[in-house]
Amino acid sequence: MKVIAVLNQKGGSGKTTIATHLARGLQLKGHSVLLVDSDQQGSARDWRAVDEDNPVPVIGLDRPTLDKDLKSVSDKDYVVIDGSPQATSLAISAIKAADFILIPVQPSPYDIWATSDLVDLVQQRIEMRDGQLKAAFVVSRAIQNTNIGKEVATALLDYNLPVLETRVMQRVAYPNSAALGKTVFDTESPSSNAIQEITALVSEIQIFFG
Ligand code: ADP
Ligand code: MG
Repeated sequence: MKVIAVLNQKGGSGKTTIATHLARGLQLKGHSVLLVDSDQQGSARDWRAVDEDNPVPVIGLDRPTLDKDLKSVSDKDYVVIDGSPQATSLAISAIKAADFILIPVQPSPYDIWATSDLVDLVQQRIEMRDGQLKAAFVVSRAIQNTNIGKEVATALLDYNLPVLETRVMQRVAYPNSAALGKTVFDTESPSSNAIQEITALVSEIQIFFG
């Protein structure tokens, strides 16, 4: 079982959008998945509830015992944790549970600076696990035809974590699919940019698992 935690205490950075899409993308590649909603607001659970035919199983684990509670789930290829907007005990237990931590950041220096507490926690845990834990940033909600600025690229580099090559762009297809309790895989044509970027994201993350 491989556990991917999508974390960033900043609300609106795209955690739920990315977590739901990663789960569905991995499932469409033939893997068994479980999406864990660690946000007390329950956005992933709300998403799951819109469409009774939604094929992604979702459970809510929004307590700081998440890492221990997850140990009873072992029959899935992948568990994707949708992070909560907190840098406290809940985030720490998600970090403990994870084999790979994905940090979505909007391409603005303010958003990057706001991740510094999380990055510290993640770095400490990486050292403790002696390289067994991996982590990366993904640029999220990037606006078309704008370069992410030099300042943004430099600020990200300062954190000493890799930045995925794949970026998730700002696209109406994401909220439109969420409103139907679906993902872009189920609402867009296979050649759409949204499906292509999520497919690339899934593949790039799977490389970290070797
Ligand atoms: P978080 O879980 O980090 O709070 P969400 O995934 O809920 O972030 O995203 C916050 C808001 O931004 C939601 O309304 C969502 O639909 C929208 N959103 C997120 N990612 C994108 C994207 N790539 N393109 C367009 N809208 C997005
Ligand atoms: Mg969310």
